[in-house]
Amino acid sequence: MSRVYNFSAGPAVLPEEVLKEAAEEMLDYKGCGMSVMEMSHRSAAFQQIIDEAEKDLRELMNIPDNYKVLFLQGGASQQFAAIPMNLKKNGKAAYIVTGQWAKKAAAEAEKYLDVDVVASSADKTFSYIPDCSDLDIPEDADYVYICENNTIYGTKFKELPNTKGHILVSDVSSCFLSEPIDVEKYGIIYGGVQKNIGPAGVVIAIIREDLIPEQVDESVPTMLAYKTQADANSLYNTPPCYGIYICGKVFKWIKKMGGLQAMKEHNEKKAKILYDFLDKSEMFKGTVVKKDRSLMNVPFVTGDEELDAKFVKEAKAAGFENLKGHRTVGGMRASIYNAMPIEGVEKLVEFMEKFEKENA
Ligand SMILES: *Cc1c(COP(=O)(O)O)cnc(C)c1O
Repeated sequence: MSRVYNFSAGPAVLPEEVLKEAAEEMLDYKGCGMSVMEMSHRSAAFQQIIDEAEKDLRELMNIPDNYKVLFLQGGASQQFAAIPMNLKKNGKAAYIVTGQWAKKAAAEAEKYLDVDVVASSADKTFSYIPDCSDLDIPEDADYVYICENNTIYGTKFKELPNTKGHILVSDVSSCFLSEPIDVEKYGIIYGGVQKNIGPAGVVIAIIREDLIPEQVDESVPTMLAYKTQADANSLYNTPPCYGIYICGKVFKWIKKMGGLQAMKEHNEKKAKILYDFLDKSEMFKGTVVKKDRSLMNVPFVTGDEELDAKFVKEAKAAGFENLKGHRTVGGMRASIYNAMPIEGVEKLVEFMEKFEKENA
């Protein structure tokens, strides 16, 4: 068996320990005589898996009791529609557009309400986070929407926008559990788990209870009404059982690693190794404004497309996978999520140094 260093933006690297444990339990989960994949979602064994996953997530993120934790399907992209469908009151929402995902979310929301783009960094190909301390947010906006970590461009909100009393909705897909956050500052925190938590197929939504409407528009599909999912504790229909089980194992792994503060320190240390190298390299350059750099997704370029392609190819041959940048931006991107070990980044930097010397 040989594992590569996987820098994929998602689905992405998972802790090896978690994968091994899952392998051990594959044929016989704790004496059940079957795999979690084969188990009824109404069984006591699965109920315990989902309950424990929720409990551990609540503990990790310090989620207050007045927030619901939902394990959903449909990807983060499904929430682009579910959010306006459920939060629509006055029929207007404010979006801060800092990349493709926020842009897509805004476009989807426009089907259901009026979208006011109150800030954007499109003018400089999303290479920074706009100043959001004093935005012109309409009084009657039902919520303010952000994508907190921009997976494609590699920027991150280091400070939340001043929403001027409006509800904040945040897509945290690519920074979920990468550092402590103050849940109470948000109305909804949500993300697909395939970036930093588990296998594709699960979306976690943490929603302040008073924002879950008793009644939604008749045209809203039953499955997309938060109340349906909240009332059934994520078991309205068959949930993504196996995915939830793996997420639960990752929560336990993070707890064992020391929780979110320890995760943050680990992530800062890793990112620093790569950013320090980019700052001194003559060949490789980071593409975003320093103060807005993401700890999770690190895009970089050589400035020469052919050299970029050569680098990606040689890196792959050396065991560093998925370093090609997103198809819309080119260059390279190293996603260094929680489960990427520090050695992965150290060895990548060594490889980059060697490549730079050989191609100077
Ligand atoms: C990957 C990603 C998405 C899309 O996720 P899907 O689960 O594929 O719908 C949305 N937002 C962010 C920030 C992402 O990184």
